[in-house]
Amino acid sequence: MRVILAQPRGFCAGVERAVEIVELAIRKYGPPVYVRHEIVHNKRVVEKLRSIGARFVDELDEIPDGAITVFSAHGVAQKVADDAGLRDLPVIDATCPLVAKVHREGQRYAEQGYDVILIGHEGHPEVEGTRGRIPGGVHLVSSVDDVDRLRVRDPAKVSYITQTTLSVDDTRVIIDKLKQRFPQVAGPDVRDICYATQNRQQAVHLLAQHVGVILVVGSPNSSNSNRLREIAAEMGIASYLIDTADDINPAWFANVDAVGVTAGASAPEELVQEVLNRLGQITPVEIENLEGVEENVRFKLPEMLWDVAGSPYGRMGRPQPRESERNSAPTPAE
Ligand code: SF4
Repeated sequence: MRVILAQPRGFCAGVERAVEIVELAIRKYGPPVYVRHEIVHNKRVVEKLRSIGARFVDELDEIPDGAITVFSAHGVAQKVADDAGLRDLPVIDATCPLVAKVHREGQRYAEQGYDVILIGHEGHPEVEGTRGRIPGGVHLVSSVDDVDRLRVRDPAKVSYITQTTLSVDDTRVIIDKLKQRFPQVAGPDVRDICYATQNRQQAVHLLAQHVGVILVVGSPNSSNSNRLREIAAEMGIASYLIDTADDINPAWFANVDAVGVTAGASAPEELVQEVLNRLGQITPVEIENLEGVEENVRFKLPEMLWDVAGSPYGRMGRPQPRESERNSAPTPAE
């Protein structure tokens, strides 16, 4: 059986940075380091960090006074940041700079008197963080039907922002509906959907043209991983979201010549390698790499960790811009 690997796949710059922040904080301050929510949505990543001294909690009141506190890559509401400030908790913020950018965008719209619509999924931590950063709150929409139900103060003063990990195609449909209802709506089109999400979705579109089954390595609560599986399914390809190689069912590959493998932005490459090993146990495999975008985005670490990291960019090093890099909108130095 041929096994074709998507390019790009797996860790994005925001996840790489968040994981490194926790590791460096443990190295600098010693365990335990408290992390509010899963640092990123991946079971293996969370288990590994737990094994070196990270303590994952749901709320700040589970954190002892004075303990080093990390906010996850998904970002937090202003109230959470304020509460941490009131308790003088030493906070290291691992919010992805691209999520923080969406916060600022929404805040600007709110300051200018717009009703702000957030396109995203109810209950996702990024959505909770974003809606809690925008004064006056947001209207959350997840579907075209939600757009029909919207009630705004002034239809001529409406804006939207989006969660970073949505399906580009589904989001366009919702944006088109918003434009129909509110012809003057202001918004970023799909530019809030981050470079990593867009690149991984584009790679799955390509992969689906070559294979009969697609395996997406990612945890069930990972938004961007779910979108990858859905995109493959929408293209008529049997697709499965697997947390680890143990989730693989050999029956999926009956009568299949080629299987595609990709990984969500929070899934480490070691899980992909374990999947390849497992496939090799099921049947002899030939592994190929699909051509695709080479990513070169890096985000600076928080300054308080530069001493232990050895450089502002940590183990990933300073970015070297490449002509070929699509979607180079994020500012690496942010
Ligand atoms: S998926 Fe995008 S927004 Fe989310 S952490 Fe990665 S780079 Fe940041």
